[in-house]
Amino acid sequence: MHKSVVSILKCESYDPAGLAARLEKLLDQLGGMSAFVKPGERVLIKPNLLKAASPERAVTTHPALVEAVVREVQKAGGVVTIGDSPGIGKIQKIFDETGMTGVAERTGARLIELKESVEAKTADGSTFQTLELSKEVLDADKVINLPKVKTHAQMYVTLGVKNCFGCVVGKRKPQWHFKAGVKREYFAGLILDIYRTINPVLTIADGITAMEGNGPGSGKPRDLGLLFASADALAMDRVIVDVLGLKALEVPLFSVAKARGITGTELSELELRGAELAELKVQGFEPAKTIDMMFGPPFMRRYFKNAVTAKPDVDHDRCTLCNDCVNVCPTDVMSVKDKKIDIYYRDCIHCFCCQEVCPEGAITPKQGWLLKLLEGRS
Ligand code: SF4
Ligand code: SF4
Repeated sequence: MHKSVVSILKCESYDPAGLAARLEKLLDQLGGMSAFVKPGERVLIKPNLLKAASPERAVTTHPALVEAVVREVQKAGGVVTIGDSPGIGKIQKIFDETGMTGVAERTGARLIELKESVEAKTADGSTFQTLELSKEVLDADKVINLPKVKTHAQMYVTLGVKNCFGCVVGKRKPQWHFKAGVKREYFAGLILDIYRTINPVLTIADGITAMEGNGPGSGKPRDLGLLFASADALAMDRVIVDVLGLKALEVPLFSVAKARGITGTELSELELRGAELAELKVQGFEPAKTIDMMFGPPFMRRYFKNAVTAKPDVDHDRCTLCNDCVNVCPTDVMSVKDKKIDIYYRDCIHCFCCQEVCPEGAITPKQGWLLKLLEGRS
């Protein structure tokens, strides 16, 4: 059986010289960058640039890693463009605060916002027949995917596969959330479709400092000192989930992939290079605050939807009324009333786009009261 190879290496800091050497070794375990990029190829590097945040907050892929990867691609003869399409916020501010402007200046790489959307046909067996994806990404000769290791309220974690959702252009992201609806499995199917359509040749995950807790926008930085790489992002994600001590069964992406007959969701189907899993296990990694978005038998969901479903809860003391959540909400159920954010919960689809974009970390998932009672939590 063909086994996907996942390369892992310890890397304690973002110090440029040390990081460059560790990255080279990480890639050597996969045959080196020249195994993925040929001279003259146009390479699109896709970091996670969720929003304007300094690298220390661990919301975005660290610029030192992006820079090291750019230099590796250039050494292999590739012509680099760095691009992403944040759901909200001014792009220049995002590039400046995340350190991408500096990376582009120092390396000569082009820095772009993914703006143009084109229809793309998906592979057989996908959840969606066609998708709307970034033209700039689809036109590139090769795509290299650079996720940040983070928790995610709806998807449990956001790693390599989920990072490709950023190739849905800007404001269309919430619309696709809306299309996928409330079922986590349906949304997982969507991001799997996107990943397989984009088909990045290489994924390198920034786990030097990860995010735990209230991810993906407002969690706590957590030093892990790890880098991961693979040509198979799904396999790499599976390894990371194990290293973090999280339950793979709770990650909807893996169950959806398995149901479609895609390999890479079982550790026995993978080959690790660089380290043994047992020596890397992270202790006490705090998962996303709430992942039970929908729970219970169908009759219960129907009649007690708001009582059993986690819903976005606004901390009005932290809220600065910036309106970012109101603008991103795909169902227009958020508004400002009496100088406070108000949510019309009946039509909320629990996509948690609002939580992702909130710059103040003022939105957290709050478990429904009935579910809390059933679980014995108060
Ligand atoms: S209120 Fe938040 S979770 Fe609900 S639909 Fe709007 S963005 Fe999604
Ligand atoms: S909850 Fe967050 S995103 Fe929404 S208005 Fe307040 S600060 Fe802005």
